[in-house]
Formats: sequence, structure tokens, C-alpha cells
Amino acid sequence: GLLDETDRVLLEKRRKVLGDLYPLFYDHPVHIVRAEGSRIYDAQGREYLDVYNNVPSVGHANRRVAEAVFAQMTTMNTHTRYLQDGIVQYSQRFLGTFPGHLDHVIYTNSGSEANDLGIRIAQGAARRTGVIVTRNAYHGTTQLMSGLSPENGSKMPLSPFVRLVDPPDAYRLGAENAAAAFAAEVERAIWDLKRYGMGTAALLIDSIMSTDGIFTDPAGLLDPAFRAVREAGGFVIADEVQPGMGRTGEHMWGFQRHTAEVDMVTGGKPLANGMPMGCLVLGSHLSNAFASENRYFNTFGGNPATIAAADAVLSEIEDRDLVANAARVGGQLLDGLRALAQKFPVIGDVRGAGLFVGVEIVADSVTKEPDGELAHLLVNSLREEGVLISAVGPWGQVLKVRPPLVFTDTDAAAFLRVFEDVLQSVSE
Ligand code: PMP
Repeated sequence: GLLDETDRVLLEKRRKVLGDLYPLFYDHPVHIVRAEGSRIYDAQGREYLDVYNNVPSVGHANRRVAEAVFAQMTTMNTHTRYLQDGIVQYSQRFLGTFPGHLDHVIYTNSGSEANDLGIRIAQGAARRTGVIVTRNAYHGTTQLMSGLSPENGSKMPLSPFVRLVDPPDAYRLGAENAAAAFAAEVERAIWDLKRYGMGTAALLIDSIMSTDGIFTDPAGLLDPAFRAVREAGGFVIADEVQPGMGRTGEHMWGFQRHTAEVDMVTGGKPLANGMPMGCLVLGSHLSNAFASENRYFNTFGGNPATIAAADAVLSEIEDRDLVANAARVGGQLLDGLRALAQKFPVIGDVRGAGLFVGVEIVADSVTKEPDGELAHLLVNSLREEGVLISAVGPWGQVLKVRPPLVFTDTDAAAFLRVFEDVLQSVSE
């Protein structure tokens, strides 16, 4: 079987201490012990190709990052209330990856905290409360973010000041209509927030709309909506927790696939290759206005060890040309997956940017009826064949292909080969 006796004992012990709040991936969970680059190994020594994890973006068990953390931890590690070189040098380097008007950074320990702070700052500066998010968005774990995250699995009502908008599903709307349809959704939300006396403080959006089902095209898709928000006096906050740090293959940040300006950017997962780090990047006028009315101190945020890891991550991305790698290998994945879509009608659509690709599974290619059940079967069959991916979207119908940035041509070819076999076997 897939789980041996040792795994079953561990599973039982785990249930006793962690309970139901810690679900595992897959019908047969994977008991992992070690990882390297784009590979993960289980307790029985089986190798898995990691086509899912974006946190170890410069590779699992990256030595350069680990050594940077070790060196810093054995030298000094405190908080940000003393004068230190590291945080200043890193911040200059990091801000250099953003458009010029985003000239301040605030460090947190998670994407949730960064989004939480971004919304506080937006609501304070706009003197309004309304927030717009996409219909199946996920933005984090805090009380505020849970209320702005329809995809949080909760039966509690969302915040009274949130409005949901349908994501621009170009597969169903047609590529030529998606941008206008999305802008119309956002304009309706702005109108509704105004009608109820709240006004629009922010549009909080993951520019690749990961949890909504991965909507990437056409580039510029979000521009009219972003402009509508800013014209209404609200702030656009790009949640780059998933698309950020070079993943989309063209720029460092996913929102840069669109041309309209954003007011704030939040980051998390891939920033420090697994050391807990989040960030809020914004214009100095906004951060200074917030500082004049508030105090913000984050004990672990931006501490020297985390900054050392983050700096090593940037060096890896530059030295190994990982943004270009994401574009090249991502292009190869798109081509290969589109060829498979010709052969297997259950693949309704393939869309993506760089190493972030969605493969939509449908029950009927004419009606485009989503098939979450089949997507679930594919994810589990792939796991049995040694390939780790997941599925997203409101019906769990979109396979999420989002490997570490160090994913190679050989890795992509291996994934496509196994995926074809699995598609073949479920079609029979
Ligand atoms: N925003 C998005 C788009 C995310 O995917 C996540 C995490 N899944 C978060 C925010 C929250 O980040 P964290 O788990 O680091 O708090």
C-alpha cells in the first residue's frame, strides 16, 4: 500500500495532538523526510517531483540560504529597534525591484499580517472602510483577513464592509470581454459600497487570482478595474503572496503584467525560501501618514536572520537567472499542456504566466461544466505516480502547476510524461 505501518502510527499520533485543524493533502498522505531542489523524498525513499511548492522558490534545502541564516544566527539576531546594516542594504535592494513610487517597505512574518496592515493603512488614509475582493479569494488568517476571504472554509459571515466580484474568467467570457466584465463588476461594487455609506477604501487582489482558478490573460486584464478603484479614491493592493518574486517569468511582480499603477503590494511565501517573512511595500506618503497616527512594531518582522535569508534568495534569483528560467520552462509547460488538451477533452483550458499554470478540468468541453471530482482524482493519481500538485477554484476544478523556480526543462518533461500517462489511464 501507499502508507506502511510506521506512517499509520504517525498519522494516529498526529491526529491526537493536532486534531482536525491540520488536514493533510491527498487521499493517501505523503510522509516526507527530506527534499532538495525540486525533489521531495518520503520515508520509504521514494522520490517526488515537486510541481506545487512556491515557498522553497530557490529550491528545497537551498545551501546558500541556510548558510546565510546560520551565519547571522551565530553572529547576532534581534529585532529592528537597533541600528543595523543588513535591513537597510536589503531594503534598498528589494525596493529596487518595484516601480519608483513604491519606496517604503514594512516587514511582517506572514502574508496575512501584511494584508491586514495594508487594509488598515488604506482604511485610515481613505477615511472609508469598504473593501473589494474576488469571489473565491483567500487573503489570510487574521480576524480582518478571514472576513475578507470567502475561500476560508468558514460558515461565519464575511465582513459587512466587503464586496465580492466575479474574477475575469476569459475561458468562459471570451478573452476580448474579460477586462471590461471585470471592470463592470468592480464598478458595481464601488457603487454598492457608496450606497451603503462605506465608500471604497481598497481593492485587495491577487493579480493571478490563484484561489479563484488562476486567471492570467490577456495581460492588462486588470487595468480598467484598477483605474476605476483609484478614480473612486480607493487604493489598489496587489497581494503578491503567490504570483510574486519572479514566478510569472516576465517581471519580479505579478501586477507588472498589467500597466495600471498599484498603491500597495503585499508579499509572503517565497520571500525568504521558508523563513517566515511577509512585507508591505507602499509609497512613503502612505507609510508616513500611518506612522503619524499609529505605532507599529513587529517583534520578529524583518529580523536580521530573516533578512539574511531574503537577501540570499534575491542573490539566487539573480545569479541563476530564475525569472528567465520561469519564463522558459513555464513556456515549455504551457506548450506541452496545450498539446495534451488537444488529445484529452477533459482539459478545457490551459492558462498561465511563467511557472504558474492552471489546467481546467471539465465534464463537457462545450458547456465547460467544471469537473472538480475528476481534478481530485488526477491530483491523487499524480501523487501515486510521484508528482505533487494540487487543485484550486470554486469547484477544485483547476489543477495548479506552481513548482519551485528552479524547475528545469527535464523536470517539465518528466511532469508532462507522467501527466499524459495519468490522463490516459483515467480516460480508459
Ligand atoms: N494571500 C494569498 C494570495 C495567499 O495565498 C496566502 C496564503 N495561502 C495568504 C495571503 C496568507 O499568507 P500567510 O499564510 O503567510 O499568512
